[in-house]
Amino acid sequence: MKSINYFQGEVIDIVRRLLAVEDDALADARRRAKESGVPLIEIAPEDGAILGVVVALLRPRLIVEIGTLFGYSATWMARSLPPQGRLITLEANPEHARVARTTFERAGVADRIEIIVGDAAKTLATVVGPVDLVFIDADKPAYPDYLAWARKTLRPGGVVLADNSLDKGRIGSPELPRTHAVRAFLEELAADPAWQAAMIPTLEGLAIAVRTEAR
Ligand code: SAH
Ligand code: MG
Repeated sequence: MKSINYFQGEVIDIVRRLLAVEDDALADARRRAKESGVPLIEIAPEDGAILGVVVALLRPRLIVEIGTLFGYSATWMARSLPPQGRLITLEANPEHARVARTTFERAGVADRIEIIVGDAAKTLATVVGPVDLVFIDADKPAYPDYLAWARKTLRPGGVVLADNSLDKGRIGSPELPRTHAVRAFLEELAADPAWQAAMIPTLEGLAIAVRTEAR
């Protein structure tokens, strides 16, 4: 099958202008992150819009995000939460968490978000379910572990989203350990009947999977 990548240049510009509009709070968050030396490795605006639509469809009571950074993706999700919905976001770097806290206050979503600072390998165990949506976007070597956690914590019908699931195109011929891990994550999604999965071909690859009834 022949394929052309037209999702670039002015095509992305049009999508961002029409369907992924950043407001001042989100743009200001990126500026503050830059000033504080926080790396600008947040999701793209069009990914944020996808997260927002998934949240609006699912109407989750509890979202768990792994990898807060400066709070960009969490803000997109939190804004789509239903009235009683909450988001817990896990971040290893206290400086990132500090910048994220300001992002949530300025975006008007601080009341529905809790940041847990520490290595997710430890802090995930403190999260009490049931969880409706898990967004995986932290250290790539741990993707298989995060998936295993999501498998046991998500309610049936719950959803996993995972950013960087194509590892910048390296997924086709994995050499780095991190690429092997992301590939193992995708293979697990494919092999385990507990998941119904697909790839949303964003710039970074956004995997999406529903937790089925299978045990
Ligand atoms: N979801 C964010 C981007 C996250 S970048 C957004 O799109 O806006 C990845 C983040 O994960 C970084 O802030 C990094 O400090 C954090 N991180 C990396 N390893 C981690 C771990 N083991 N536990 C918790 N956070 C981790
Ligand atoms: Mg990412």
